[in-house]
Amino acid sequence: MKCFVCGIGTMRVQSAIVEANVRGESFRVQVEAEVCDHCGETVLTDAQADAYSIASADAYRRAHGLLTTDEFKAARKRLGLSQRAFACRLGVGVNSVKRWEAGAIQDESSDRLIRLCTDVEAARTNLRELESALPIESRLGPVPVTVQAETRSDWAGFSPLTGSGPASGRSPDCSYAA
Ligand SMILES: [Zn+2]
Repeated sequence: MKCFVCGIGTMRVQSAIVEANVRGESFRVQVEAEVCDHCGETVLTDAQADAYSIASADAYRRAHGLLTTDEFKAARKRLGLSQRAFACRLGVGVNSVKRWEAGAIQDESSDRLIRLCTDVEAARTNLRELESALPIESRLGPVPVTVQAETRSDWAGFSPLTGSGPASGRSPDCSYAA
């Protein structure tokens, strides 16, 4: 394809360093692009633009200690979850998961939630911090169980060993479908 800027060169697919501006910060990201071999004009196809969005978001995320798209997908796949099931686990809409994986930058609280729900070390650290912050009687230990007569029927079939049984008012289908 001839370059539409200089009319002389040919557009060729190559790796290019492209400026990215994310939330007021500048980054240089390496992406595949169509580059004119004469004047250097650089354009992105739709697919290249999608990759550029993710690369830009990832540059920002790395600078701010947030999970990148690949890390996010890897965490979800480690658990063998679909985007929808993962959204249910996090208590967010499936569109949030789709947007994050496509390069929308998650806020810090979402990032923390994702780590707590997917990363054993983050969960352990959280438990340690929580236990050291709580008064001793609130820490993990035998949990006294009181079942009141009027609520017992809600728990018919509940097994304390497996935790199976009727969920407390929660629909078996995740309602965070939006
Ligand atoms: Zn050109």
